[in-house]
Amino acid sequence: MYSLGIESTAHTFGVAIMDDKGNVLANEKDLYTTEEGGLIPFKLGEHHVDVCGKILKQALDKANLTLKDIDLISYSQSPGIGNALKVGCDVARSLHILHNIPVIGVNHCVAHLEIGRLRTGMQDPVLLYASGANTQIIAYDGGKYRVFGESIDGGVGNFIDSFARELGLGFPGGPKVEQLALKGKNLIPLPYSVKGMDVNFGGLFTNLTQKIKSAKYTKEDLAFSVQETVFAMLVEVSERAMAHCGKTELLLGGGVACNNRLQEMCKIMCEERDAKFASPENQFLVDNAAMIAWLGILQYKARPISLKLDEIDIKPYLRTDQIEVYWR
Ligand code: AMP
Ligand code: MG
Repeated sequence: MYSLGIESTAHTFGVAIMDDKGNVLANEKDLYTTEEGGLIPFKLGEHHVDVCGKILKQALDKANLTLKDIDLISYSQSPGIGNALKVGCDVARSLHILHNIPVIGVNHCVAHLEIGRLRTGMQDPVLLYASGANTQIIAYDGGKYRVFGESIDGGVGNFIDSFARELGLGFPGGPKVEQLALKGKNLIPLPYSVKGMDVNFGGLFTNLTQKIKSAKYTKEDLAFSVQETVFAMLVEVSERAMAHCGKTELLLGGGVACNNRLQEMCKIMCEERDAKFASPENQFLVDNAAMIAWLGILQYKARPISLKLDEIDIKPYLRTDQIEVYWR
């Protein structure tokens, strides 16, 4: 069985093809980037429309398949930016109409967790999902992926990108901040904001903009201190979730999880509590269509029912913990 997945929740338009044994035949994407400034929703939509045909063809060519070989289309239905989601949804709908292929809508956050389980072989992990728009600590309990903690303002990636923008770096800022941080020498005290199981970054951001304006600190020290502070917040809530749930595996997901320092800090925490730590390869950490194709397979095998034409829609605000996990 071949599943074609379409990702378009935010900056990435991706198409991937997977088989039901978990092999990735193609995982193609085009990322919307800027030299300066952030994401503008309607421009994201335009970008995705511009690249969707090319990426679809690229994926089929790479897998050496045609649309006639595809048994299932899955697309990211939730959550995300409406303008961006709409493009992936329209591509799925068109393929369904033209080629009569069954369609499944999947939740992007859950897809991060399932591709992580597939690639690492973890059974029942706590997921630290640290991406652009989303920052959640997720674990399976009673038929759902529950959110045990999260950012109560923006996602950690968006926060790092905003910080990078203040320093005059373009989008995405995360990798540039990571490089700068390697040259930082001094830890500058910064607001550390953990409220129970939740985190937030707003106060820290305001504090940083003042520090940048004051010109008293080097960019390198600021980048270093930002990473040390926010990653410590994330590791703290992840550890507490593991302790509360009695789970012994920590899995990473999301683009920020590509950061080597965050991975190192998670690894140290897990070693200290005799837990396992793992992270899939970077191409499956950032937004990618392989995870959408894979979750489509899991869902369709458990419930082989295609969405009807009028159900092929977008749900920008649907949360991780609203999804019924009927395939586990
Ligand atoms: P996602 O939304 O999961 O695709 O992740 C995108 C986010 O990951 C953006 O905010 C990037 O700045 C961030 N990101 C990517 N690579 C890194 C890195 N090495 N360190 C920190 N953040 C990163
Ligand atoms: Mg994501």
